[in-house]
Amino acid sequence: MHLVTVGGSDAGISAALRARELDPSAEVTVVVADAYPNFSICGIPYYVSGEVGHWRNLAHRTSADLEATGMRLRLDTFATDIDVAGHRLLLRDPDGGQSSLDYDELVVGTGALPVRPPIAGLDELGAADGVHLLHTMGDTFALTDTLDRIQPKTALIVGAGYVGLEMAEGLTARGIAVTQVEMLPEVLPTVDAELGALVRAELDRHDVQVHTRTTVTRIRRASQDEGGSETGRLQVEGTDPDAEPLSWDVDLVLVVVGVRPDTDLLVRAGAQTGARGAVAVDESMATGLPHVWAAGDCVVTYHRLLGTTYLPLGTTAHKQGRVAGENALGGTARYAGSLGTQVVKVFDLVAARTGLREHEAVTVGYRPGTSQSSPDDHKAYYPGAQPISIRVTGDLDTGRLLGAQLVGARGTETAKRVDTYAVALFHQMSVDAMAELDLSYTPPLGSPWDAVQMAAQAWVRDYQLPAQQAALRSLVVR
Ligand SMILES: Cc1cc2nc3c(=O)[nH]c(=O)nc-3n(C[C@H](O)[C@H](O)[C@H](O)COP(=O)(O)OP(=O)(O)OC[C@H]3O[C@@H](n4cnc5c(N)ncnc54)[C@H](O)[C@@H]3O)c2cc1C
Repeated sequence: MHLVTVGGSDAGISAALRARELDPSAEVTVVVADAYPNFSICGIPYYVSGEVGHWRNLAHRTSADLEATGMRLRLDTFATDIDVAGHRLLLRDPDGGQSSLDYDELVVGTGALPVRPPIAGLDELGAADGVHLLHTMGDTFALTDTLDRIQPKTALIVGAGYVGLEMAEGLTARGIAVTQVEMLPEVLPTVDAELGALVRAELDRHDVQVHTRTTVTRIRRASQDEGGSETGRLQVEGTDPDAEPLSWDVDLVLVVVGVRPDTDLLVRAGAQTGARGAVAVDESMATGLPHVWAAGDCVVTYHRLLGTTYLPLGTTAHKQGRVAGENALGGTARYAGSLGTQVVKVFDLVAARTGLREHEAVTVGYRPGTSQSSPDDHKAYYPGAQPISIRVTGDLDTGRLLGAQLVGARGTETAKRVDTYAVALFHQMSVDAMAELDLSYTPPLGSPWDAVQMAAQAWVRDYQLPAQQAALRSLVVR
């Protein structure tokens, strides 16, 4: 049995590791377009900020660790085509030559590519000009080279999603004055605007100049002013909510507005696509092409509440890759589905979400209601208690928990508290039943009713208390 995986990141490596673990006699080859297998691209902002001292530290495992599991690595090797009928992968080797690799089973984890928004000048400018996109280790080295070379004093980040926010923090940590431009009404658009506003206040507190409802329309090299001195290397133009023209002179531009699935290899081989153009797979991660499986950012994501969607996340890629690796060996693993659980640290604040927001819940037929409360992370009498802003969404017809969003200071265990909601969602609990969970308590770390339970109780008070009171009255009258 020869299993070949294409892609050396979360999905491809997870598939290869699972296969070697299940059957140490399986021959496993991993084909990777670059020289950085099993690097944590999620850690890139912390290398740019300087918190991670060396780029090699971003490796989940070194190449030697991977090879010690018995897998073979083909680095700097690009898979150009799949000959499905012939069970053969066509390759462009590091020296530019062509070769091929026979397989019995193939797992494709080609991941995603950064989106290039329609900004005039973006395609003509690049790293040499101080204009960057950020997804791979190669992109990271290009960015850090620019930072070392031009020592920018000012930067403009296009996009205020989680990567844009992490990079605003990273560049600020390097002493660069950051302007952040977001087309949508609030930063971190993956949470409700009430919580996004808290993240924005944190950016303000760290002197990041935020422009929301603002679209960047053009980037060009700045011309010199009348005195002959440059005001900034790049001139960025945009329009604000009133369609008023805006202009910024900056040294560096970083465009981070999301990703799209990298599907060329599979689509050319005949695979079907689904949500957002990602490759369609079933819950076993089969593509429909014989002996070809796929996982990670290149495929659609089964969401336990929304159905099939596209949700490119490292957590998902790891799980899907593991399922694909097992099934490629003849297993019967199933991907249980995502809840879109995610978390981001922005300076001293943590923002997290799981499940659905109201507008998403409506699309799949729920009648959602949301309550917001701010319980303390631990007992107020013990020093250092801080509120966590929590929005709980539940179904008004059934009382079922649909989602939760949290923003709290770093140190309030916000990331782990969102996970309590994620577990409750996974098991289809009602909001009310969350009060029954036996959660831990000691005054410096929590409360007898944990913050997640207090927020659930706030939802019950907002939406179910009148019915509970009426039910009690009817019992007492009888
Ligand atoms: C800055 C940043 C921060 C992030 N932070 C988080 C986070 O905090 N939490 C989280 O859950 N997710 C995060 N993500 C997202 C997460 O990194 C991705 O969802 C995850 O890496 C997807 O893994 P993947 O294996 O599907 O694809 P990718 O990581 O995109 O890897 C694709 C792999 O395929 C290779 N490849 C592509 N085409 C070919 C080809 N034709 N031949 C050979 N090899 C090929 C590439 O070289 C690469 O090895 C972050 C992403 C970025 C960029």
